[in-house]
Amino acid sequence: MTTEAQLTPVDIAIFGGGVAGLWLLARLRQEGYRAVLLESQTLGAGQTRYAQGIIHGGTKYALTGKLTGSSEAIAEMPPIWRACLAGEGELDLSAVELLSPNQFMWSTESLTSRMAGFFASKLMRSRTRTVEGDERPAIFRNPAFHGQVYRLEEPVLDTTSLVQALAEPQREALIKLNNPDAMQLSRSERGWQIAAGDICLEAKHLVFAAGKGNAALLEKCGRRTPTMQLRPLQMVMLRGSRDNPLPGELYAHCLGPSANPRITITTHYDSEGRTVWYLGGQIAEEGVGRDHTAQVAAAKKELGALFPWLDLSDAEWGTLPIERAEPKMGDGSRPDNVFADEADGIITAWPTKLALAPRLATVVIDKIQQGGVPPTTAGELPHWPHPGYAPLPWQEEQRWS
Ligand SMILES: Cc1cc2nc3c(=O)[nH]c(=O)nc-3n(C[C@H](O)[C@H](O)[C@H](O)COP(=O)(O)OP(=O)(O)OC[C@H]3O[C@@H](n4cnc5c(N)ncnc54)[C@H](O)[C@@H]3O)c2cc1C
Repeated sequence: MTTEAQLTPVDIAIFGGGVAGLWLLARLRQEGYRAVLLESQTLGAGQTRYAQGIIHGGTKYALTGKLTGSSEAIAEMPPIWRACLAGEGELDLSAVELLSPNQFMWSTESLTSRMAGFFASKLMRSRTRTVEGDERPAIFRNPAFHGQVYRLEEPVLDTTSLVQALAEPQREALIKLNNPDAMQLSRSERGWQIAAGDICLEAKHLVFAAGKGNAALLEKCGRRTPTMQLRPLQMVMLRGSRDNPLPGELYAHCLGPSANPRITITTHYDSEGRTVWYLGGQIAEEGVGRDHTAQVAAAKKELGALFPWLDLSDAEWGTLPIERAEPKMGDGSRPDNVFADEADGIITAWPTKLALAPRLATVVIDKIQQGGVPPTTAGELPHWPHPGYAPLPWQEEQRWS
């Protein structure tokens, strides 16, 4: 494909600069691998910047009776992230903005009485704590609120600062891939050759961590497996007016009758620092077929039902359609653990949750080591064009209606 002299040899080439690829890159380089990451747009541009930033610990699954062996894997995540946030973990994430050290879960009056036995169970007592009075977020201190509020020890992060904290120390290894469609991937004796414009690499191993983009990368190599499933969502965001701002920060799931939270609300800030509530959960799943106006109307109705005392008459709204990319499950269910498949020098990976990125990196590194790829002494890398950072959706003014 290209002459030997032009080729830059590397141990591992990762495709995709979301949380999965970036975490893996940092860990591989820490282990001494000569690893690079190619990003076709901007860092964080896929699902990562749309994430609510919750480092789940699995309580959601426990509540709905869906706690399985593999979802227990997620229970290990909050301590791993907390250590990194404190600068004492496997990666130094002390520069990441912690939006909240914990989140809350609340139940409406009717649901609380139906689930009283479960809330009193040993399992729930070990994972959650009922909070009253000043310990509750401002919205639940209103006398009109009659449900229960539980505190979950699950941190919430700002995803932009996370992407930056992961990427900045690895800057020299980040490559902007212009025109990914024209890129050529071909098998060579020593691994895989990548040719894209001026970029000519030979990697012993490839890792596809490109979220939704994994399907096209696999196709480029003539692969039909592993297969991917896309789960569409339509998220909603709202901000108050200057005279009537939203009533403070809220990081909370509302329990519903189904396996999913009825609504999940996280708090972020727009480009002028105004408080933004970002709504996911059932409302985002049910909102997929709706147009913008219908989805905003549905969100207004839901918030009106949950917080009838809240005046949102002059709030501004935005809707954000986005797809979750995951491995296809045989039974059509949603995966609850990381996925990494190795075949002929290519590992295809989906974390399925931002919170699981550390676990995915460990699984992928184990596969690389089992495949007998030792780290080579990392020499200097050539100067390539670097990708920029994707903005947060609520900081893009054109997204507000
Ligand atoms: C609305 C929403 C809310 C969520 N909230 C949470 C949450 O609160 N907590 C949680 O744990 N998880 C959450 N998730 C899940 C989480 O966001 C994802 O699991 C995670 O971000 C996936 O990361 P990734 O790096 O695999 O993929 P992505 O973030 O999608 O990144 C893939 C990257 O690959 C790039 N790319 C694509 N094609 C190519 C190519 N050919 N070459 C090079 N690069 C390419 C893309 O530009 C992109 O930057 C949420 C997801 C969504 C959609």
